[in-house]
Amino acid sequence: MAKNYYDILGVSKTASADEIKRAYRKLASEHHPDMGGSSDRFKELNEAYQVLSDSGKRSQYDQYGQTFDQAQRQGGFSGNPFGGFEGNFNNAGFGFEDILSSMFGGEDTQARNRGIDLEMPLRISFKESMFGVEKEIAIEKKNPCAKCNGSGAEPGTKINTCPKCHGQGQIKTQRRTIFGTMATSTACDRCEGTGKVPEKPCAECKGIGLKRGRKTIKVSIPAGIDDGQRIRVRGEGEQGYRGSAVGDLYIQIEVQESKDFVRKGFDLYKEETISFPQAALGMTLETETIDGSVKIKIPAGTQSGKVFRISDIGVPHLNRSGRGDMYVTVRVHTPEKLSKKQKDLLKQLEDIE
Ligand SMILES: [Zn+2]
Ligand SMILES: [Zn+2]
Repeated sequence: MAKNYYDILGVSKTASADEIKRAYRKLASEHHPDMGGSSDRFKELNEAYQVLSDSGKRSQYDQYGQTFDQAQRQGGFSGNPFGGFEGNFNNAGFGFEDILSSMFGGEDTQARNRGIDLEMPLRISFKESMFGVEKEIAIEKKNPCAKCNGSGAEPGTKINTCPKCHGQGQIKTQRRTIFGTMATSTACDRCEGTGKVPEKPCAECKGIGLKRGRKTIKVSIPAGIDDGQRIRVRGEGEQGYRGSAVGDLYIQIEVQESKDFVRKGFDLYKEETISFPQAALGMTLETETIDGSVKIKIPAGTQSGKVFRISDIGVPHLNRSGRGDMYVTVRVHTPEKLSKKQKDLLKQLEDIE
């Protein structure tokens, strides 16, 4: 997983809002760029605090890890994880009736009118997670009806203000209870909460304004994304009822494990095996990185388990410049099957020692 927000602030997962605030204030003053701190570190602190100080975002983070916004039109990747995390979460795969009943089932009007958010998993290779990749994905969802453009009205006919709710989309009722008079509003059943009714419903979609279909979109996955992180593609969820707001699409990233590297935060770890003479005499070791091979100088007298660090060749930082490091642990192999000559040489060595 990527660097944990709790670790960044140095607090436990169960830290209170107060503890988080105190930890942030202390660290932010220590690392403020104006005070000579690192701007990368400061940015990281702010990002962690932005999420953990908001109880909604924090619980989303606890459940799903980091979520990143996909900036669609620019084709790039926007800088603000969690930028306005809103919307109700429903699963894809409901029938239309189910969706209507959940959409119109007594939540507030805004949530009802908005199309539902979709979530889908996307498996990418380890290499793709390192360098980023553009993926084409097909989503089966409700799109605006092509015939009526999502309005629900037969082309050429008018859309009227709902006579029942006068365009409000909801009907207020007052009830007397033991706590006093309570006002409740429910979605207008005549216009399904949209405030508008087509004079003549579209024949293609029966006035709903939606048509199920397959849509292919391009998503760019940023370099450095980690397993379990999510990307939000705004406006690629389902279309809302009769041209109202569209939901978002959340892509849950699954990264295939690498057989060569283990990722921890933005650092990569791997092992290399060398022979006893190589360890004793020193050598130049050629090892693969995600960018190609590099040479490491193994000094004479290297012990098994020694770790060599190669900086700036690890995972690209998500959303900011720079990269993590790569750590190579060297294991010295003890030979198992020896030839007569090898045995003799080792015996001689033992005698000298
Ligand atoms: Zn239609
Ligand atoms: Zn109405």
